[in-house]
Amino acid sequence: MDKQEARVKLAQVMERFIGMACKRLPDDVYAKLKELRDNETSEMQRVIYDTYFDNLERAEKLNRPSCQDTGLLHFYINCGSEFKYIGIVEDALREAVAKATFSSPLRQNTVNFFEERNTGDNTGERMPWLHWEIIPDNDELEICVYFAGGGCCLPGCAKVFKPSDGYAAIVRYVFDAVSDLGLNACPPVIVGGGLGHNVENAAVLSKMAYLRPLGTSHKHEKGAKLERDLLDGLNKLGIGAQGLPGKQVAMEVHVESSARHTATIAVGVNVACYMHRRGFIKFNNDLDYDISKSYKGVSI
Ligand code: SF4
Repeated sequence: MDKQEARVKLAQVMERFIGMACKRLPDDVYAKLKELRDNETSEMQRVIYDTYFDNLERAEKLNRPSCQDTGLLHFYINCGSEFKYIGIVEDALREAVAKATFSSPLRQNTVNFFEERNTGDNTGERMPWLHWEIIPDNDELEICVYFAGGGCCLPGCAKVFKPSDGYAAIVRYVFDAVSDLGLNACPPVIVGGGLGHNVENAAVLSKMAYLRPLGTSHKHEKGAKLERDLLDGLNKLGIGAQGLPGKQVAMEVHVESSARHTATIAVGVNVACYMHRRGFIKFNNDLDYDISKSYKGVSI
């Protein structure tokens, strides 16, 4: 397959993948919502969860997006250093987004900043948003697609503290973010915390944190404990689905970290809503693909 054929094929597969992922929740998120629904004792909370499931069922039956806000398209890309078609990935993703805007369909959400004009096809300056990591001695391409809705973007924040402020500052910052604007992100939410040395790396880490599959923990024992403690604390706030009284404002809290500067502790917070449309697709060098990490038994 030459590069032109590869670009067409990758764009077509990604257009179909986007079309499916905007209508269906990944398996881990769906299973977590079922678990949370069964933990709630209030009748109001159960009604809300049942409405969520009814909405998802109808989205699939009617072939319509599961939420009106299909967001801006973000792609987190793990690309093997030996993947043959690295040079066409960006063009293929742009084309896939533009076409999926009409075939899915996606809401036209993308506005070029200073022109204040909707681009009409969800592509624009640096949009779709791409984050690349190169994996040495590997010949696969894994793409994580994420639909960044407005309600989820609103609570996002990052701040740099002095080390003397300690872990207490981190905890207070996360609680303030979730209990204030976090409620715009249709709870139960997934909270991503990034711990590093400046706002940029903390923000990126917080995004990587909430894209991580549910049921996984930070690799350091203390990081995993911080995740559990934050989740326990947030779920004692008495906030449930849709920000109404309930037992679980958060599905999970994920933390990712990097080494920090001796003089700083940076915290980033990103919040994802219950409609966590995030899915993984993996390609080999023949552009055969596999989506079973997020969607078992589903074909596109
Ligand atoms: S927060 Fe999520 S579920 Fe709520 S409107 Fe936005 S995208 Fe949809």
